[in-house]
Formats: sequence, structure tokens, C-alpha cells
Amino acid sequence: MQKVYFKTFGCRTNQFDTQVMMSKLKDYELTDDELHSDFIVVNSCTVTNGADSSVRNYISSMHRKNPNAKVILAGCGSHSKGESLFEDKKVFGVMGHSEKENINTILKHKEAFYQIGDLEHIDTTIVEEFVGKSRAFIKIQEGCDFACSYCIIPQVRGAARSHKEETILEQISKLASNGFGEFILTGTNVGSYGKDHNTSMAKLIKKMSQIRGVRRIRIGSLEPIQIDDEFMELLKEPWMAKQLHIALQHTSDKMLQIMNRRNDFKSDLEMFQTIASKGYALGTDFIVGHPGEDDKEWSKAISRVKELPLTHVHAFSYSKRDNTASSTMKPEIRGNIAKDRHRELTKIIQAKNYVFRREHTSNLEVLLEKGKSGIYSGFDQYFNKVEVLSDEDLSSNWVTINDVEVSDVGNKAKFFT
Ligand code: SF4
Repeated sequence: MQKVYFKTFGCRTNQFDTQVMMSKLKDYELTDDELHSDFIVVNSCTVTNGADSSVRNYISSMHRKNPNAKVILAGCGSHSKGESLFEDKKVFGVMGHSEKENINTILKHKEAFYQIGDLEHIDTTIVEEFVGKSRAFIKIQEGCDFACSYCIIPQVRGAARSHKEETILEQISKLASNGFGEFILTGTNVGSYGKDHNTSMAKLIKKMSQIRGVRRIRIGSLEPIQIDDEFMELLKEPWMAKQLHIALQHTSDKMLQIMNRRNDFKSDLEMFQTIASKGYALGTDFIVGHPGEDDKEWSKAISRVKELPLTHVHAFSYSKRDNTASSTMKPEIRGNIAKDRHRELTKIIQAKNYVFRREHTSNLEVLLEKGKSGIYSGFDQYFNKVEVLSDEDLSSNWVTINDVEVSDVGNKAKFFT
């Protein structure tokens, strides 16, 4: 049997897509040895120019190290760089996102192929990824309808489209009856779920919560404008994880405008304060160093960050991506300045997180993952990591912690029966 090696670049969605392809291979064997495989499927990422270079370098290195393998380009890069790599004969084949589920047939091509497909397709396979035996990530939608200036995703993953509600619920029921208690909903722009099926994220979550065994529901990320009254109603429910990740990307209105975002600081602040007053921890994504972020805008932005009740942040330093509006914008921000801003922002949120954890030391419902030498770790309802010392095997168990030792680096507890 011929062997196939998968190389995955980029985000969690790409990792899910690799799983879809792997699950469809019937006449081939999977291998983890890239040097002796017959096919190398490169599930590529194209989010920045740097990501493109990494993919290109990997392909070249494989030509040297395993010249007999047929290299197939899949993933987001097939939609941005596929044509040129194919024309330059750097890859044997190119397959677009919509072709993933046909991989078993595609690999049988005797001649070089360019099969880019379309960006409207949604896979019939719903992928789950498991953490231990009790947390599952479920991908519920694909694509994005926004047009943020710095982002190439809508061009390479297409418009937002959702998986069918019945398929998602069926999948969750199956997992819940097998002992999974926490579900994390993911996708390219998760909060847009349902728009194309005349339903909503809130309705899906309500239905999920009625499935026996579903104990906690988390949403990967939401956009501020996706939080409507129907969603706010859910916040009082006991099965909602008490942490939301709402992607603001910036706190200066000028920068939000430049980035072509749909949120503004005044309403973001109001929303964050309302949600925090309901006992929620709040995380966000933030891009530092985007063109136009001069000293004045940065100092405004950082003083606004201090006003927000934030507990977690994913800070990114802006990195250029050709064919996006931001790529030609001026003035660009020097890398060392972006680095300093990144550090400043992260430090502020770490301090806020510490204060939050000191104020939340009891009734922590922690779902523990695998342990080592009697130390188990997992996340509480506020998405803070807790390390638990115990003499019994607590892997994949839920524990309620009422006494936690809080330090600036994390939470620790003991659990003895
Ligand atoms: S919301 Fe903006 S940043 Fe996120 S995928 Fe869509 S266009 Fe890109």
C-alpha cells in the first residue's frame, strides 16, 4: 500500500481539515515518516507572507530530502499560491478546500492536477478533536463574511456557511453518551453560525444544553456584533462556561476603522461591563503594530485596555499579508515597537487575570485532563488553568475546588478524599 504523510501548517481549523482528509483515505496507509512516504500532502496556511514562505521552504526541502514523493498542496495556500506553485512545477497536484473529502480518488491521478474546486462547499464530515476523554472541540461552521483589512481568510475560505444543526446535535449526543461533558464550538467565524440556515448560535446552544450528559458549553470566539439579546439571555444558564472570548482586535476607534472592523470602543466597553457584571471572565484578540498605530493611537488604546474588564488576551503582532488592504497601508510600525506594545499589553492583562483569580478562589469547577506524578491540570469555568495535586487518579474527572492557592503564575490546589 502506498504511504501518505500529512504536513499541517497554521490554525486549529487546518488541523481539523487534515483530520477530514485522513478519515477519507481508504486505499493508502498513513505514515509519520516524511522521508519515505509516497505522497506528501501539505495542508498549507497563507495567513501572512511569513506563512507562505514557511510552506514554500518546506516544499523545497522535501524535494531534496524525498525526491520520489509526490507533493500535493492543500489548504488555504492552494487558493492563494496554488496556481504559481503548480505552474512552476513545485507541486504534483493542487487541491482546494472543497476537494478534501475526495482525497482517496484524487491521489490516484497519474498526471499532474490542479483541482481547486469552489469556496461554497461545506464538508459532510463534522470533525471533533478530543482533549482526554471528556472535552471535545466541534467545528460547526466554515468561512467568514467580514472583510477585516488585514485578513486574507474570506478570500481563501469563502463566505460563512454552517453545518446542519441535526448533524451537529447528533454528533454531540453520541459523544455525550460516551462520557464527554464539555463541548467547545469552533469554526472560522463561529458566531456567524446559523445565518444561512435561518437559525442562530443561541438556538443551537440551547438545544445542545438539553442533551443528556452535556455539562459545559464553550464558544471558541465571538465577534462583538454577534452578541444579541437572545445570546445575552443564555448567560445566566449554569451550563455556560463562565468565560467568553470576544474578538475586539483593537480599542482605538481610528484603528478599528482602518482595520475595517464592525465594532467600536464605546459599545464594546458597555458590553464587556454588562457581561462581567454577570460573573464572567472575558478574553479577547488584539493586534498590535498594524499600520497607522502611531504613538498617539497606541497610548489611547492602552489606556482604554485598562478600562476593560479583561482577564485573558491573545495578542498578535501585525504581520503583512499581500493582497489585503492593510498590506499597502502606511505608516508601517517597526517590529521592535510592536514587540514592546505586545509586551505592555500582555503584562496588563496578566495583572488583571491575577486580580480576577484572587477574587475567585472557591466553587471552581475544574475538568481535569491527564495527570503526571499525582499532578493533574485542567481549566475552571473561567478558563483559568488549575493544577491539582491528588493521590487518586483524577484523569478526565470533574472536581469542585474550594480552596486554591493563587500565585502570579497560576492556580494550585490539593484534592484528597
Ligand atoms: S472576522 Fe475578520 S479577522 Fe476574522 S476571519 Fe473574518 S475577516 Fe478575518
